This record gives sequence, C-alpha cells and structure tokens, in this order.
Amino acid sequence: MSCINESVCRLCRRENVKLFLKGDRCYTDKCSFERRPYPPGQHGQSRLKFSEFALQLREKQKAKRYYGVSEKQFVKYVHEASRSKGLTGTELLKNLEMRFDNVVYALGFANSRREARQLVKHNHFLLNGKRANIPSILVNKGDVIQVSEKSREVAKVQAAMQSVARRSVPSWLEADHGAFKGTVKDLPNREDVTVAVEENMIVEYYSR
Ligand code: SF4
Repeated sequence: MSCINESVCRLCRRENVKLFLKGDRCYTDKCSFERRPYPPGQHGQSRLKFSEFALQLREKQKAKRYYGVSEKQFVKYVHEASRSKGLTGTELLKNLEMRFDNVVYALGFANSRREARQLVKHNHFLLNGKRANIPSILVNKGDVIQVSEKSREVAKVQAAMQSVARRSVPSWLEADHGAFKGTVKDLPNREDVTVAVEENMIVEYYSR
C-alpha cells in the first residue's frame, strides 16, 4: 500500500464506509468509523452536495483503497478490463479479487489485505508448490495456495486463522486451515465480490 501515507482509519471515514484495513480492530468498538462515521476535517459533518464527477472519483478511490493498489496499477487494471470481452466494471472487480494478496486475505491467512500483501512479500506463501512473493499475481482456477512450512508458526498467520470465523471464505475459494492450504475452485462472479463499490461509476470516471 505504498501510495497511502495518511492514517488508514481516515480513509474509511473519507470514503464513508468500513474498508477493513486494520484487521481485528475493525471488528471492535475501537473502530474509528464506528465512533465517528463522517469524513475527517473541518467540514466533515457538513451536508455537502457532490457533483457527478466527485461521486465517480470517490467510488474509484474507494475501490483502490479496498484493494490497496496505486493509481498506476489501478489504471492498468481498468485498461485490461476494457480490453476483455465482459463488462468493463465487472471484469475490473474480478481481476482485483483474483490478486494473490486478496486471495490470501479471503482464505483467512491474513487479517487484512494490507497484512496479506506484507506476508506475501516476505515469502510466506507458495503458489502451486512454488514460492510466490508478488502480491499482484492473478490466480487461476485450480491454483493451490499454501502457507510455506517454515511460516506456519508466524504470529500474524496464526492470529488470522483464529479470527477467520468472523468472515466467511467466498464460495469460489476453498480453505483447508488444518493443512494451511487453499484452492481456487472457480473464477469469481460479480456476486462473489463483496466490496461495496459501484463499478459503473468507476468506468464512467475513466471514460471522461
Ligand atoms: Fe476502517 Fe478498520 Fe479503522 Fe474501522 S478500524 S476505521 S474499519 S480501518
């Protein structure tokens, strides 16, 4: 999440939605958004009227922040999605879902996407039996993700597996926590994307 310098909780308040960027804390009453559910800053509690452009911009920022990708990476995803056969917005979200770091998070081996990205970069995972330390790799149907043997006692992985009951593993993935393993059963559909974004607005933003 190299592009993000401000406090991550401010991002949730800015986007007016819980982005679940801080793992366990997001599920407790310490969550800043639960306590102050309005944008940060002097005018945070004012009733502001947003232009169409501003709404599209916010939707784009929200998606970027959910998945923790930079603007440059996000633009690349949008271009790739626009070249595919399906609906651009749907393909965009599906590709973001299939990122390796997102899959590690969704399988319950990390408490947040941010943490998943860090664990992936630190070589804690195997993809189809080979070390994989690039968070942006896109998984495919049939891929097998494993926590490497020497990383099974890593505190963050253990903590995530213990608290995963709070969120269900998506139906396109299968987790076997006993074997520190997960499988990509199928590619995700739009209904599998639980992130609350309106992809059409993102496409409109980039169509200007
Ligand atoms: Fe967002 Fe989590 Fe911070 Fe709550 S605790 S504001 S959900 S990052």
